[in-house]
Formats: sequence, structure tokens, C-alpha cells
Amino acid sequence: MITVDEAIRRVLEATPSPRAPERVSPSDALGRVLAEQIVSREDAPPFARATMDGWAVRVADLETIPAELLFSGETPAGSAPGAELPSGGAFKVMTGAPVPSGTECVVPIEKSEPAAFPGFIRILDALHAGANVAPAGSEVEKGEILFEPGRSIVAADVALLSLLGHVDVPVWPKPRVAVLSTGDELVPAGSPEPPPPGKIRNSNGPMLVACLASAGTSCRVRDLGIARDDALALRVLLREGLRDDVLIISGGVSAGEHDLVADALRAEGVDVLFHKIAMKPGKPLLFGRRQSTLVFGLPGNPLSSFVGFQLFVVPALRALSGGAKEPRARVRVIAADDCPVGSDREEYRPARLFVDGGEWRAKSIPWRGSAHLVNLCRANALHVMSIGAPAVKAASPIEVIPLGGSPPA
Ligand code: AMP
Ligand code: MG
Repeated sequence: MITVDEAIRRVLEATPSPRAPERVSPSDALGRVLAEQIVSREDAPPFARATMDGWAVRVADLETIPAELLFSGETPAGSAPGAELPSGGAFKVMTGAPVPSGTECVVPIEKSEPAAFPGFIRILDALHAGANVAPAGSEVEKGEILFEPGRSIVAADVALLSLLGHVDVPVWPKPRVAVLSTGDELVPAGSPEPPPPGKIRNSNGPMLVACLASAGTSCRVRDLGIARDDALALRVLLREGLRDDVLIISGGVSAGEHDLVADALRAEGVDVLFHKIAMKPGKPLLFGRRQSTLVFGLPGNPLSSFVGFQLFVVPALRALSGGAKEPRARVRVIAADDCPVGSDREEYRPARLFVDGGEWRAKSIPWRGSAHLVNLCRANALHVMSIGAPAVKAASPIEVIPLGGSPPA
């Protein structure tokens, strides 16, 4: 049996490069990976602008304080730049408004008062040149590098790209992913009526679609529903799923006589690259490839499917989306309770990360086997127990894979 590290290495080695880049709007680029460097086509701000409500003045006119200056006009935000600022004059400007040419600083409105003569204002404080004025190009200069390729676009990037008119952001395409649930015991979820005797609702299908939506990479997902434990029925749906970049199957990969997925995949021309990993839960996990399509056969137990998705499918999706080819990040945190010795397989246990006294701690969630969904709902991390690891006392360091989000305790 191969180790988890070796399995991840084989998955990443088999993962092809993304298809050709496409150009999308800044909003559609959210969560996507840049395929090219982005260079600003414009200055920001595009004009010298006031950063406070106040008086646009020349520094030389503030030599004696208080200074009495002639009211020379007014520019609210959104107006075109005003005329030249006359010497000895003060121009009223609002935050974000263009300042008239000749402006050297903006004196905040609260540092002024009406002068005795009508039409004049009195400035109560001298300021240095440049105070409260953002010159054109002071935030971003035309030709400046904004982002390098490989960056995953976040909300602030959407703002900057929108501000600067980058309407055609080059990103790698979204991987197309098919999800197939298998098992004669399954009925579609979506009815409150109790399922017929011996049947259960399909929870892995909706879980895997939700995992894809929250994996941090955008995908085009097709839920192919449920395949019966019947070789021909299975092959029809596998053939459909193999048209996508990634096919994720749940169930039917163990050693039972109704576990038909491995043979059906081979019959469809899939090269099975491994089947079984020294891990718990999820030992019978299968991985294969047909041309550029990656195939993951996840064991049907909900926790096994979940852990298999996090460990193997997420890194493959990130690489397929143009991101780095690397395993899930593990972080060292403090154990909130004692942990038992590791077994002969690498174990992944649901855990809850929380902050206590300014430090991250992880509490094990008691689990009752790999079908125990209720406890998975309480987890926001997986505690990694390597093969043969010694028992760990509370307050010692342990390794976890954070899952993101923070479900209620
Ligand atoms: P299998 O991997 O097909 O042997 O299934 C292992 C266990 O997981 C069995 O108890 C199945 O009933 C359960 N299981 C398989 N597929 C699903 C699914 N889509 N939703 C919920 N439970 C499932
Ligand atoms: Mg089954």
C-alpha cells in the first residue's frame, strides 16, 4: 500500500496543465488564477485630487497665519477640474474632487473660519506642500506591474482591476468536474418522505458538490446523480463523466462483490494509477487517468469521501486551475487534549480549531467511525496522525489541515 504523500505525489504528477487561458471581467475573475502579468494601463488617481474637504491654496500664501484669502470658487467631487488657482486665492474642494492647477495643499475646513471682509476666508494653520493632495499617478502609475501570473484573484484585486478599467482579465479556465454517486441503497436526497426500507438518501453527491463550491477554486460542476451497482448502468454514467476534466465517484471502490467501479473504469479505458492508500479513513481510494481526465474513486463512507476530497481532489483542482502543484498546507497548533498513538495507517481525524489566549489550539472531536457525519459538521480542521506517531499529551504541538470556515461548536 502506498503512503498518503506518495499518493498525492502521483496525483499531482498525473495532473495536466490547464487548458488555454480566457479573458473575463474583474468580477468573474474572483477566485481564478491569473495566466499573465497585469500592467496598469492608467494612472490612479487620474487627476490630482483632494483627500479632505477644505481649501485648495498655495503654500506661499500661508506665510503669515492667520492668512486672509479670497474665495475663488468651489469644486464638488465629480466635477471637472476647476480653473487655475489665483495667487492669494482659496478654492473650496470636497474629498475626491480634482484640485485646480497651481494648488499646493488643501487646508482642512476645520482649520478655517469666515474672515471679517465678505468674500474672504481666514486660514488658521500653515501646511507643507502636498498636504491633503494626492497627485495624479500617486497610487498607481501607468505601466506599473499590478499582479504577477499565478495570483489567485481576491476581492481587493477585483476593486483595483475595476478601477483601472481592466475589463478583460486573463485567467485559466475553470476545471469541468462531474460527480457520480454509486450504490443500490441510495435514493436522491430532496424528499422529506422516509426512504423505502433498506434505502438511504444520497448525501455524498450534495456533499461533494458543496465541497467543490467551497474548495477555493471555481469549477463547472455537473452532478450525474446515482449509478446502480450494475456494471452496464455504471459504465454509461462513467462514460458521461469521463468527458470532463475531473470525474469524482463516491462508493463502489472497496473489495465487496458489488464494488464494480474499478473494473468498470478499466473497461472504459481508464488507467488506474493506484487503488488503496495507507490512510484512515479512506483506505480503498482509487485514482486513475484517461487522456487528460483525472478520476477519483472515493470510498462511500461520508467521512472517507470527505477526507479523500480534501487531501487529493483539492490539490489537483488547484493545479488544474493554474495554481501551484502542492499538497494541502499543514500547520502546527497546540493540542487541547491528549491524543492516542498513531496506527499503521496515517489517520485524519475531525478536529476543531479555536483561539485561546492568542494561540491556535485544536480539540479532537470524538468520532464513531467513518459514517459519522454529525461530528464532521462540528469540525473545521483535520488532525493528522502520522503512522506510528507516539501518543501526544495535551498542550503539545500537533499538525492539522485547516478546512476554512468556522462552523458552530
Ligand atoms: P461503499 O464504499 O459503496 O462500500 O459504501 C460504504 C458505505 O457508505 C455504505 O454504508 C454506503 O451505504 C455508504 N454510502 C455510499 N455512498 C453513499 C452516498 N452517496 N451517500 C451516503 N452514504 C453513502
Ligand atoms: Mg456501494
